[in-house]
Amino acid sequence: PGTLYVVATPIGNLEDLTPRAARVLAQVSRIAAEDTRHSGRLLAHLGINKPMLSLHDHNEARRVDTLDAYLEAGEDLALISDAGTPLISDPGFVLVRELRARGRKIVPLPGACALITALSGAGLPTDRFTFGGFLPAKSGARRQALEQWEAREETLVFYESPHRILHTLEALREQVPKRNVVLARELTKTFETFLHGSPDELINCLTNDVNQARGEFVVIISGAPAVVQEDHQSIHADELLKSLLAEGV
Ligand code: SAM
Repeated sequence: PGTLYVVATPIGNLEDLTPRAARVLAQVSRIAAEDTRHSGRLLAHLGINKPMLSLHDHNEARRVDTLDAYLEAGEDLALISDAGTPLISDPGFVLVRELRARGRKIVPLPGACALITALSGAGLPTDRFTFGGFLPAKSGARRQALEQWEAREETLVFYESPHRILHTLEALREQVPKRNVVLARELTKTFETFLHGSPDELINCLTNDVNQARGEFVVIISGAPAVVQEDHQSIHADELLKSLLAEGV
């Protein structure tokens, strides 16, 4: 049987496609893509002309049997999405889960991913973070989602679309006005920008220069300040008392 390669593609800059990705895309028999027209342009740029089939949220479950039959027939396949790593806020999870359950060989090829690229350039702590995907579009649900994460001490990362970025910043100004926020915009592209500041400062930035509100965004929010545990404080007090006594104060 064949192998399914899950292949990361660029998030803007075509040079970010790895040589391994280019080789595998050229070798497989078929390529499943979120939007075949969009990915057709990337493949044309690579000089690759392959049978493609669409795989998106609405047909993913139905595609499993089709793709499994190709694998059974010994064909190697690739899965790509419009940009970056498939399955990361993109289709592919159902396919990978089902094919794994059927014992198929799945090989992921690492490459561009907007959230990791944003974190690696933002300057906010990266030792622990929560990726929240896209925030809900409706304001009530968005507020609830933010409330649920508000007390978390680790860095929070979200994807956001350009037409909701100001709404999200307004929600942040209301709920976490003092936090450091980084907007990573147009990563790897000509107008790549990192903006940082409080939600209020960023709102000013985006309203004063409409160009800054255009394009694709990753939103990174510093975590809640660490809560000092009471028993820690009492240990400190104990130790302080002991040392004061020892010094004969
Ligand atoms: N699978 C992709 C990945 O690995 O990053 C994410 C796909 S998701 C549908 C698209 C979202 O990712 C955008 O709305 C934006 O939040 C983020 N994104 C993708 N490319 C980006 C870029 N070049 N700069 C900033 N954000 C980007």
